[in-house]
Amino acid sequence: MASPALLMRVVASAFSVAEKAATIVRNVMSAGDLGIVEKAGPNDLQTKADRLVQMSICASLARKFPKVTIIGEEDLPTDDVTEDLIEDGHCEEILKKPCPAQYTGIKEEELVIWVDPLDGTKEYTEGLLDHVTVLIGIAYGGKAIAGVINQPYYNYEAGANAVLGRTIWGVLGMGAFGFQLTEAPAGKHIVVTTRSHSSALVNECITALNPDQVIRVGGAGNKIIQLIEGKASAYVFASPGCKKWDTCAPEAILHAVGGKITDIRGNSFQYNKEVKHMNSAGVLATLRNYDYYASRIPNTVKESLVP
Ligand code: AMP
Ligand code: MG
Ligand code: MG
Repeated sequence: MASPALLMRVVASAFSVAEKAATIVRNVMSAGDLGIVEKAGPNDLQTKADRLVQMSICASLARKFPKVTIIGEEDLPTDDVTEDLIEDGHCEEILKKPCPAQYTGIKEEELVIWVDPLDGTKEYTEGLLDHVTVLIGIAYGGKAIAGVINQPYYNYEAGANAVLGRTIWGVLGMGAFGFQLTEAPAGKHIVVTTRSHSSALVNECITALNPDQVIRVGGAGNKIIQLIEGKASAYVFASPGCKKWDTCAPEAILHAVGGKITDIRGNSFQYNKEVKHMNSAGVLATLRNYDYYASRIPNTVKESLVP
């Protein structure tokens, strides 16, 4: 049999690398010293877990796929990574799946991997542990085509016997796995948005949609999970602040199951390596009924957000 296509090898490795990352996230928390550093300010934090996980993911993937471009959120040196942070395993089950035909010829230098080592850092520091995810997004031709979302504390409130953590992964043209796709309640408009990065514009936009319910939780990864598990019908964030590493893996998984994510003005995101990191025009994502929400975003809100 021919060896598996590069894309499937990258996804299979990213799966194991994300599981190692989740172990690091849990270990840093249980050791008790988060080593919190403020980046742009008190709502833009970095912990020891963000640092160690970024080094682990980037170094592990770079060692296996040296010609792939890897862009991580944290600004850290890449050369002094200790061996204990390296993961060289892969998920056998993923390697066995056939690569979608349109991606079988991809070469290493054509891939860009966007890494958010810990999404929902603010919530991590506040003990809202199930808001936290590890995001590895894979882009080709400027499009998010595959992604891995690990939720290190999935099930943490289910008791000591519950299996802690899970890994969701997906590839465009193949689907997404590691969770149960669930529709949101029919006829109800449930909006999920930020809990720690609100603004007058964020709230104005949500009010204009007149939702039945608003869920405020941390993390871009976590909010996409709310969509694909039927907890919310739209992710609405009318603000800059969210970056390409926040949306790449979630976008690939959402699109793999038929959902849609754009900025607030309806423009799709680009993930080529030269692109601006900031998603300046916010985020609008749904599993179903994208047009319903897009058509109700006020023009005043759209005009306030410049891509
Ligand atoms: P949130 O929904 O607030 O958890 O935001 C989703 C992602 O975007 C997280 O990685 C946040 O850190 C990031 N983000 C959103 N708004 C801001 C902001 N104003 N400053 C820094 N990061 C932000
Ligand atoms: Mg993030
Ligand atoms: Mg982060």
